[in-house]
Amino acid sequence: MPSDSRYARQSVLPEIGPEGQAKIAAAKILCIGAGGLGCPALLYLAAAGVGQIGIVDFDTVEESNLQRQTLFTMDQIGCKKAEAAKERLSALNPEIIIEAFAEELTDTNAVTLFDAYDIVIDGTDNFATKFLINDAALKTGTPFIYGSILGFDGQLSVFNLHNGPCYRCLFPEPPSTYIPNCAQAGVIGAVAGMIGTAQAMEALKIVLGHPDLPPLSGKLWTINLRTMENRLLVLPKDLDCPLCSCKREEITLKYSSPVCGIIPEVTPTQACERCEKDNALLVDVRETEEWDAGHIEGARHIPLSALAQGLRPDLPDDCEIILYCQKGLRGQQATQILRAQGCLNISNMQGGYALWLDEKPDDR
Ligand SMILES: [Zn+2]
Repeated sequence: MPSDSRYARQSVLPEIGPEGQAKIAAAKILCIGAGGLGCPALLYLAAAGVGQIGIVDFDTVEESNLQRQTLFTMDQIGCKKAEAAKERLSALNPEIIIEAFAEELTDTNAVTLFDAYDIVIDGTDNFATKFLINDAALKTGTPFIYGSILGFDGQLSVFNLHNGPCYRCLFPEPPSTYIPNCAQAGVIGAVAGMIGTAQAMEALKIVLGHPDLPPLSGKLWTINLRTMENRLLVLPKDLDCPLCSCKREEITLKYSSPVCGIIPEVTPTQACERCEKDNALLVDVRETEEWDAGHIEGARHIPLSALAQGLRPDLPDDCEIILYCQKGLRGQQATQILRAQGCLNISNMQGGYALWLDEKPDDR
């Protein structure tokens, strides 16, 4: 039994009481991602005495995380986030069970993980994983708490609770245009802290099930932290939702990882070999003036700016597509967009056109 004094300040609330505290102690909550949203959510859930907490994150702590990922300290740089978070939360509350899963959430492990927990918290920053969380939540009948941040804006909702709307009722498919995540677009830690903390509150509301604490199901809360303007939008269940209309057993999970590091990369020499031997297609994603100033013979030109504006190019599906830009970074972004469009046999040329010129694979 938890010590009385630890939870005294919350169990004195009439909506909680000893029974509510017992419900919290019996709850099992899984958090996907121990980043800007996951860190505050996990802190408050562990502090409140949630009996079992799971943390799924394959990433390691970097110095650039510390500005918003409040579980971690300098001496944990280089450690697995799931393990580092477990260490910190165990120090905060040794009375609860904490499981660290230092792995990526994928279509093969999602159902097993979700089945072991009552509620899932979405602490991710990319669409591919949010759709996977949604679909696995529906397949396993698990409510999930959605949070999203970008710049000074935050969003919050509860999906798949008591047959309420799901994430696909709001966004049926991943966007075809490229939308930057926090790493690319920037975020202030306090914005992540606010949404992550609100996610912990929604999880506790679901656990407590008290009539005066209705969870944010069927509604979307948005807040702009520049102006502190916030809105509560009604979010009805979409009768044509591609997922809600499926039976659970008919839901199949599809996932292609959005992680930059696992975008396949090829060297300029490999790219040339694959074009010659395997008929791979080179695609130059630089802008028109760069293309006009010089490009690789035989390449096709599809600028990143056009992809970002929603262009869906007609690419062959019977050969590998190898993208290149000037130095490699825009090629990675374009690869992500095209993968999201379903083009999976795709890689990016390391070092881009600049490295290709240096190495001159054909000795030109
Ligand atoms: Zn739906």
